[in-house]
Amino acid sequence: MRLALVLPCYNEEEVLRRSIEQLTILLDKMVAVHKITPDSFMMFVNDGSRDATWDIIVEQFRKNSYVKGVNLSINVGHQNAIMAGMMTAMDMSDAVVTIDADLQDDIAAIEIMVDRYREGCDVVYGVKVSRTADSFIKRSSAVMFYKLQAALGVNTVYNHADFRLMSRRALQQLSRYKERNLYLRGIVPLIGYKTATVNDVIREREAGKSKYTLKKMLNLAMDGITSFSVRPIYWIIAAGFFFLIVSVLATIYILISFFSGHIVPGWTSLMLSLWFIGAIILLGIGIIGQYIGKIYIEVKQRPRYNIETILDEKKEQSSNATTKESTDESLVSH
Ligand code: UDP
Ligand code: MG
Repeated sequence: MRLALVLPCYNEEEVLRRSIEQLTILLDKMVAVHKITPDSFMMFVNDGSRDATWDIIVEQFRKNSYVKGVNLSINVGHQNAIMAGMMTAMDMSDAVVTIDADLQDDIAAIEIMVDRYREGCDVVYGVKVSRTADSFIKRSSAVMFYKLQAALGVNTVYNHADFRLMSRRALQQLSRYKERNLYLRGIVPLIGYKTATVNDVIREREAGKSKYTLKKMLNLAMDGITSFSVRPIYWIIAAGFFFLIVSVLATIYILISFFSGHIVPGWTSLMLSLWFIGAIILLGIGIIGQYIGKIYIEVKQRPRYNIETILDEKKEQSSNATTKESTDESLVSH
């Protein structure tokens, strides 16, 4: 199989050469045991860096046959950079592994991902087993975020962060998701197919600083919720109903006060309208929100379904042909 590694790079001049060195050793090793073909490659996506990142990619491209590069004209952020790399590498490879250019992830896991791919998995998630290299704040905010997502019904893989293998057909399916507010960790589980997880022990960054500023992280977290869940709108409706009940109770209390006469003039009408109108406004916003939520889902034009297999005589012949092809390939490579 032809493997592609996709690495997003934003101002990574300090770690890039080191990362390329380590990955070259890994690829050489996998080629030597015939796990991947020698035309496998690493594709560096320069996400509008302002330092020498692209120059290093060009320099390495000239002397290292594994190196390929994509240069983005401006910084579009981690998620879009990965997407650019995956979509470019998709037609040149059988499977793509996305991994950060700082190699904080465990590169030995790539080999296991490839094994899982060969066993028939289309998506293999790298799952962080130890996050000791991440700061306490980063760790605990991540945990809180996963919990919030789960409460909102967003289906993601716990402790997984964009270190994953995807087969070509999984990528083809991914390419049908046209949305701009990209949150890959939420989309990939929607694709289906057979998946597996491998353990990923996170290391310290070897050089350079984190390129994920607080602002970028908050943006990603926001996308992780609002691109997948319209449940907050239900909460507005729920709050509307709640206040409607409160307004009924308040009405009883206010009327009792009115008839017992211990009130300031004008208080009764003011209080009655306050609760009631508050509830009606909330319900109104919630109902309008429902429609906006629907519009939101419609404009994304996500695929309605993903066919995994079709049982049909003619199709069967062709799918047999492809299975045969892949067996042939594994025969050759063993
Ligand atoms: N990155 C990117 N564009 C950005 C920010 C980051 O392509 O706007 C890349 C960066 O070069 C790295 C990866 O995304 O390869 C993850 O970033 P980083 O390691 O700084 O994040 P952290 O590991 O601290 O969460
Ligand atoms: Mg990092």
